Amino acid sequence: MPGTERWLVTSSRHTAYSGMLPGWLAGHYRASDLLIDLGPLAEKAGAKLVVADVVGLDAARQTLSLSSGEEIGFDLLSLATGGETDISSLAALGDSLLSVRPVGAFMERWSNFLDRNALASTISIAVAGGGAAGVELALGAEVAIRRLFRNARISLVAPEDGFLSGHAPQVRKRALAELARRGIAVHFAQAVGAEGGLLLSNGDFLPIDCVIAATGSRPPRWLAGSGLACNEAGLVAVGADLRSISHGSIFAAGDIIDRVDRSLERSGVHAVKAGPVLAANLRAALSGARRSQYQPRSRTLYLLATGDKRAIVSWGRFVAVGHWAWRIKDWIDRYFVSRYTNPARNGQ
Ligand SMILES: Cc1cc2nc3c(=O)[nH]c(=O)nc-3n(C[C@H](O)[C@H](O)[C@H](O)COP(=O)(O)OP(=O)(O)OC[C@H]3O[C@@H](n4cnc5c(N)ncnc54)[C@H](O)[C@@H]3O)c2cc1C
Repeated sequence: MPGTERWLVTSSRHTAYSGMLPGWLAGHYRASDLLIDLGPLAEKAGAKLVVADVVGLDAARQTLSLSSGEEIGFDLLSLATGGETDISSLAALGDSLLSVRPVGAFMERWSNFLDRNALASTISIAVAGGGAAGVELALGAEVAIRRLFRNARISLVAPEDGFLSGHAPQVRKRALAELARRGIAVHFAQAVGAEGGLLLSNGDFLPIDCVIAATGSRPPRWLAGSGLACNEAGLVAVGADLRSISHGSIFAAGDIIDRVDRSLERSGVHAVKAGPVLAANLRAALSGARRSQYQPRSRTLYLLATGDKRAIVSWGRFVAVGHWAWRIKDWIDRYFVSRYTNPARNGQ
């Protein structure tokens, strides 16, 4: 829009597409296949790219504080920084703990872990977290470590009510069958990090070389002092138009929000699909036009990668598993990334 200046503030210049992370772990993708360079995208949008962490927001003063020490004032803010992985109960694991977020840092630390243990013959890995990400990461890691180590043990630890909650019972059944078939031990328990392993709420102790934390996301800490209206969990409270209910100049989407008008699970599908609505409403806020609403479709297509080039597909009540489902997922994911990395596809 004429007469506007735009900034894109982001922790790193490259953003990794989480949907392809389990496939990368299993060795089906190179790191470059899932990385999106934000430089050309910012340039195309006429935005100045600022590579820094937001460490503070003052909603009333309309300023952002950055890790570089800079302060940026704004008339309009679009918040889409996602959440942080909640690792509070696992912190005692120290260097053996690999948090899945930020995804780029996780990829680096996993590669370092494998390099450090290249000469070991026995390895024991656990994934903490029973959401879709935890299940996919356990299945992807299983492929990787069985290829590299003679004796590989892998476990998935999650409270039973947190295992693929929100997914159809058939999806849970298929996922459990797949985990069992691949020799992945599933422990339905709460896990607490301890030196050398995980202490489970059923009293068991799992000796572990590395724990991948996919324990769900919590709101970033810097949000707490922002003055923005948040829900009990600390997520930004927005309406269907993705505008903060307390500060009209602030919009938000993705894992950082809580919708006041309906419940909406935190998933990449909603983060991505809300994008065009968010963009339209930022323009509407400047022009005074009517704002649009983000209304998700009643059914969402989910494709859970099983690490061995198959996937579990669910669409409403339809649930199936197969190589064909992986081929669909692979095509969708590669196409998604190429829209942001291939100038011919994003209309440059
Ligand atoms: C392994 C894994 C697999 C997944 N697979 C799927 C899937 O197949 N389908 C699906 O629907 N969902 C999936 N999800 C969930 C999905 O990744 C999230 O719901 C989605 O990424 C949320 O999008 P977002 O834009 O809110 O945040 P993010 O994707 O986390 O993006 C946040 C961006 O903001 C930047 N940022 C963060 N903090 C700051 C800060 N303080 N300052 C500046 N920049 C910051 C980050 O660098 C990042 O670029 C998966 C998640 C994981 C972990």
